[in-house]
Amino acid sequence: VRHELEAQRDDAAITSDGRAITLSANIELVEELPLVQNSGAKGIGLYRTEFLLLNGEELPGENQQTETYTRLAQALAPHPLIIRTLDAGGDKLPIEPLTEPEPNPFLGWRGIRVSLDRPDMFKEQLRAILRASAHGRVAVMFPLVSGIKEVRRGKDMIKECMDELASQDIPFDENLETGVMIEVPSAAVIADLIAPEVDFFSIGTNDLIQYTVAVDRVNHHVADLYRPTHPAVIRLIKRTIDAGTANGIWTGVCGEMAGDILLTPLLLGLGVEELSVGPHQVPRVRRAIRALSHAECSAMAEEALQTPLSLDILEMTSTLASKYY
Ligand code: PEP
Ligand code: MG
Repeated sequence: VRHELEAQRDDAAITSDGRAITLSANIELVEELPLVQNSGAKGIGLYRTEFLLLNGEELPGENQQTETYTRLAQALAPHPLIIRTLDAGGDKLPIEPLTEPEPNPFLGWRGIRVSLDRPDMFKEQLRAILRASAHGRVAVMFPLVSGIKEVRRGKDMIKECMDELASQDIPFDENLETGVMIEVPSAAVIADLIAPEVDFFSIGTNDLIQYTVAVDRVNHHVADLYRPTHPAVIRLIKRTIDAGTANGIWTGVCGEMAGDILLTPLLLGLGVEELSVGPHQVPRVRRAIRALSHAECSAMAEEALQTPLSLDILEMTSTLASKYY
């Protein structure tokens, strides 16, 4: 099966009835680049930059980050590289000066909250991203956004960095695309208010699920309650996509849910335009997309949105997935 999947590497990620999906890859380390290229993914939909942190230290300096991002951008061009700004905290790597454990790390100092509280560090990262944007197709996205103000403050910081670079005659992409992760329920609920401010949405289902159903994503005792097909989760996904569509921006999914081929029919049916998955999952997800009819998936998703039990929704999407599963 592996060879068969590899042979299909250059096939388009397009449904049997002609809907094209952008299929991209998630990475944590630059060393994964060859895997991404071998997978045939159309770019990187999520680069988790917190893995640049070493032992809770600062991010590498601006020049070193610029080098890293530029290398990736150049290797991927003309495909995009979506760089997520630092998402430290929570279950992730801690960052100075947070020396004491937080009582509720998932509700604490993480994601864009840390970046906005550490403007010098944030600006170094943004300047590096901007500098790399002169060498390929680079976009930036903010993690753990919970409201409009964080989006505006993040964008203001980008503008500030652009002005600085311009005054120093350092080249960058003036139209750098800026997106947000939709992974906090409050952001999904006000997706219609956020959409006019950004260029794309990327749904982080790992966090969106945990925050929606109040289930710690790394606690085994409650793992059974962690359900991607919970009706509330799929309604939030649908709401986000609809808000994006109404505002002319695309919505993707970069959480683990995107790589689960049992759920591909559901996500396509809800209307996602991009799926970003681990490099190893790319061939299987591509095959799933190609085996599915978007019209059939949409009809199933309509019904799923009216279905009260997550297990029934799982069964509905699994039935369509049986074509290739
Ligand atoms: C997510 O929350 O779904 C996501 C993609 O981000 P991370 O897993 O890095 O929190
Ligand atoms: Mg997340």
